[in-house]
Amino acid sequence: MDKFDAIIIGTGQSGPALARRLAGAGRKVAVIERKFFGGTCVNTGCTPTKTLVASAYAAHLARRAGDYGVTIAGPVSVDMKAVKARKDAVAGVSRRAVERSLKTLQGCTVYEDHARFLGANKVAVSGSVLTGEQIFINVGTRALVPPIPGLKDVPHLTNSSMMDIDFLPPHLIVLGGSYVGLEFAQAYRRFGSEVTVIELAPRLIACEDEDVSRAVAGFLEEEGIHVWVDSKVVGVEKQSDRIAVKVESAGTLSQVVGTHLLVAIGRRPNTDDLGLDKAGIATDPRGYIEVDDQLCTNVPGVWAMGDCNGRGAFTHTSYNDFEVVAANLLDHDQRSVTDRITAYALYTDPPLGRAGMTEAEVRKSGQPALISTIAMEDVSRAYEKGETKGFMKILVDRDSGLILGGAFLGLAGDEVIHTILDFMYAKAPYTIMQRAMHIHPTVSEFIPTMLGDLKPLQ
Ligand SMILES: Cc1cc2nc3c(=O)[nH]c(=O)nc-3n(C[C@H](O)[C@H](O)[C@H](O)COP(=O)(O)OP(=O)(O)OC[C@H]3O[C@@H](n4cnc5c(N)ncnc54)[C@H](O)[C@@H]3O)c2cc1C
Repeated sequence: MDKFDAIIIGTGQSGPALARRLAGAGRKVAVIERKFFGGTCVNTGCTPTKTLVASAYAAHLARRAGDYGVTIAGPVSVDMKAVKARKDAVAGVSRRAVERSLKTLQGCTVYEDHARFLGANKVAVSGSVLTGEQIFINVGTRALVPPIPGLKDVPHLTNSSMMDIDFLPPHLIVLGGSYVGLEFAQAYRRFGSEVTVIELAPRLIACEDEDVSRAVAGFLEEEGIHVWVDSKVVGVEKQSDRIAVKVESAGTLSQVVGTHLLVAIGRRPNTDDLGLDKAGIATDPRGYIEVDDQLCTNVPGVWAMGDCNGRGAFTHTSYNDFEVVAANLLDHDQRSVTDRITAYALYTDPPLGRAGMTEAEVRKSGQPALISTIAMEDVSRAYEKGETKGFMKILVDRDSGLILGGAFLGLAGDEVIHTILDFMYAKAPYTIMQRAMHIHPTVSEFIPTMLGDLKPLQ
């Protein structure tokens, strides 16, 4: 039996950082990874998809070169093998960096295999039994493949297998019109595929405000993506070398026939084969590990960090989990996940940056609020760059003047959102930013302007 002060299962976005802090504090640490170092973000999530999105943007801009007075002789074509090679190279750098940093970390032993609990402080891996005074679970999630009739008999792709594609799917059908599905949909459309998105909800990215959903659907359709909403997939079947997806929409049955099928309808936690029952660790009905606000499970000495605890689904929430756990355990700094403000981005082009409450949430809360909206067409930087799709929206509490939230769908929306996010953390009234002098010409210069134009939310 190998004894450790701490065992970390999974090398997602919190495990490796915590391993470094614990080893740095003199603890004897074991890290266990069954597949790729760096987990989803580095290998099958953020990094590779944003690399693909960048290639797709280059293709799109090249096709629009004439708009800028630039001539490209001949049609624009995309070399999918080169696109994949670039993506692999970028992701590979990050994966190897995580692996190297752990394998060269003093006081850290790395195991490369599947880990399973044998008891509350006991883990089996590679034929060994490890005991740890503290155990940190960072096992992440994987694509949810629903029990749609016929799906298991038809070749289908997930965000993971999409990473192996080095050719252009003639017609990609995407099940799921939310964050993961839409990024792939737009990228592959720009590479040259015909793309159909099928979404069960009445609109794309249904947890966003209606105006955001509408605008996103609008620019995706403008690029030639077929968008089906309010559409339930009731079956899938192979038709010679094609895939037919049977869809029920407004009481009518129809089918979409394509060449490739991407399933992007959600995630499920990697907790089903982790032996949690042997350790008595509680999960919710979907398998997410139940934790308190400091990420402790119901079993003393065991924490769950990252997507598997259901308290976040992003790289930054997972990394923040590490910060919360490290602060509480090593720095005598009582931090909690309830201190964080909702923030994320959708990396379509233009991107959506989001912080805090949506307009719908503010309305539902009933609190008196102010709102300001500006079309990107009225933002000079966007106009100059010829990228005027989208709009920005900010919501403010009428009485305190505190910013409640914002949705920035437009050029650099994923970056500009931080102007209000940091302000929200500072808990400063909007009137301070309203008087700030921002740099011209930028998208951010319009934030003070918007704050000077707040109207009551009707
Ligand atoms: C297509 C896609 C795009 C995304 N884009 C973004 C984005 O742009 N921005 C963003 O913030 N988030 C994005 N995300 C989400 C982001 O990737 C995750 O939130 C992030 O990776 C955090 O994951 P994690 O730390 O929980 O664990 P993960 O990164 O999922 O890592 C878990 C690790 O644990 C290992 N493991 C699992 N079980 C075991 C076991 N029993 N034994 C040993 N090892 C095990 C796995 O092999 C894996 O390496 C995206 C996700 C997807 C799918």
